[in-house]
Amino acid sequence: MKTKGVLTIILTILMLQSQAQGLVLQSKQNKQTTTNITLGCGSYDLMQHLDNKKPGFLELSNKLMQNIEKNISNQRNTKSSDSIYVIPVVFHIVYNNDSENIPDSVIQNQIEILNHCYRRTNSDTTNTRPVFHNIVADTKIEFVLAEIDPEGNPTTGITRTQTDIEYFGGILAYGQGQDQEILDWVNDSLLYNLFRLTNDTLGGKKPWNPDKYLNVWIGDLRILEPEFNNYKELVYFGLSTPPMDHHNWPDSVLNLVNIYEQGILLHYINLGANNPNSFPNPYHTYNGLITTGKILVHEVGHFLGLRHIWGDGDCNFNDFIYDTPNANASSQYNCNKNRNTCVDDIYGIDPPDMVENYMDYSSGNCQNSFTIGQTAVMHYVLNHYRPVLSNTIEINNIENNQFYQSFNVYPNPTTGAVTIKSEHDIDDFQIIIHDSQGRLVKNTCFMDITTLNFTIEGSRGIYFMEIISNNKRTTFKILKL
Ligand SMILES: [Zn+2]
Repeated sequence: MKTKGVLTIILTILMLQSQAQGLVLQSKQNKQTTTNITLGCGSYDLMQHLDNKKPGFLELSNKLMQNIEKNISNQRNTKSSDSIYVIPVVFHIVYNNDSENIPDSVIQNQIEILNHCYRRTNSDTTNTRPVFHNIVADTKIEFVLAEIDPEGNPTTGITRTQTDIEYFGGILAYGQGQDQEILDWVNDSLLYNLFRLTNDTLGGKKPWNPDKYLNVWIGDLRILEPEFNNYKELVYFGLSTPPMDHHNWPDSVLNLVNIYEQGILLHYINLGANNPNSFPNPYHTYNGLITTGKILVHEVGHFLGLRHIWGDGDCNFNDFIYDTPNANASSQYNCNKNRNTCVDDIYGIDPPDMVENYMDYSSGNCQNSFTIGQTAVMHYVLNHYRPVLSNTIEINNIENNQFYQSFNVYPNPTTGAVTIKSEHDIDDFQIIIHDSQGRLVKNTCFMDITTLNFTIEGSRGIYFMEIISNNKRTTFKILKL
C-alpha cells in the first residue's frame, strides 16, 4: 500500500478585469493559475482540515481503509449477501428565501435517483464501457425517506427550517493582497461556517440521531465576499463526513471529529434532477453537468467510506479499492473516454480512467457505476462503522420492507435495555437474536402486544435481531455499548 501524504490546497486570489471574483480553490495537481472556478466536493478537504487540527487524523483514516481493504480481500470469493441494506434518510431543508425551500417533489426525485444508481437500475448503465462490465455492481443499498422520527412519531422524512443566514459559507472579510489571511480563514473558519447548517443555535437544524438516520442538510453553501464587490462564491457542491472507528481511535481524535455532525451538506441547487433552481453566471456552465442528482450519489459514497477514485493525488495515490482504475487527477467534469493516465493491473488488464464511476469528478451525464470493490467497502462500513444505520431486508419480498418500517427499536446503540414498538397490534411474533459470531442469544415468541421491553445480555458489540411474523421477517442490527 502506498503511503498517502497530505495534499495542500493552493489558494489563489484572482481579480478579473471584467468582473470582481473572489477566492478560488485549486487542487495541487493543477498548479497553473486559471480563471476557471474550480468547484467540487469538500469531503476530502474536510479530512485534510481535521488532519491540520489533529495531525494523524488522515493516517488513522487511511489505516481504517487499509483494514477494510484487507478484510474484504479475504471475502472476495464468498457468495454475496441475499439481503439489501435499507437506509432511512432525513432531509433538512434550511432556507433563507422561497427558492431555497425546495419542494417535496425534488426530494422524492432525489431518493429515486439514489435508488436507481445504488441498485444499478438507471437507464444510462447501458453506457458503461464493456471493459468495465465485469467489475460494476448492484450495491444492494436502498434509501427511504424516514417514516418514524426520533420521538417515534410519523414523519415525511423532511424538515423545513427558515434561517436568517444567507450564506452558510460565511463572510470573507479580506480582499486582494491578503492571500495568507484568506488561506487562514479557509483553513480555520470555512468548514465551521458550513456546519452551522447542522446546529439549531447557529441558524441551522440539529440532526436526528446520526447513528440511525442519514442526515442530509440542504442549504446555501456560498460565501459572501464584500471585499470583492459582494461576490458570491461557491466552493463546494457538497461534502460528507467520513466513517470513524469508535473502538480504536483515541478520544482526542473522536472528540475533534464530533465537532462536525455526521451527515452530508449539499448546496440547494444540486438536489435532484427536477430542481427549479439553476446556477447563475459564472457557474452556469455547470448546469448541464451536475443537475442530474448525482452529486448526492457521490456524497453518500463518501459517507459509506468511499474515497475519490483518483485517490486525491497522482498515480502514486489510490482509493484503497482493488478493482477501480487509478487516475493521476480527477476528470474535471468531462467525459473523456480516451484517458488512461496510470498503469493498472486489474484482472490482468490496464483499463482506462473510469469516468463512469460516481466517485470521479466526471460529469453526472457519464456517471453510471459503482464497482464490486466499492460495494464491498460500503457493506463493510455499514456492518462495522455505521452498524445501526441500515436494516437488512431479504430480497424478493416487498412486504418485508413495510414490515420493518412498522417497528421502532430504541435506544440503539444501547447499554442493554431495548424496546420494540410496533405500529400495529401483532397477533404473534418471534424474536431471534444472534451475536456477531452467529451464536444464539435469545429466541422468544410473543402474542398480542405493541410494545416489548427486554435486555440483551452479553458483551458489547453488534447483535442481529430478527423479527418474524406471519411469514414476514426483518432484521435489525443493535449495537451494545
Ligand atoms: Zn467527493
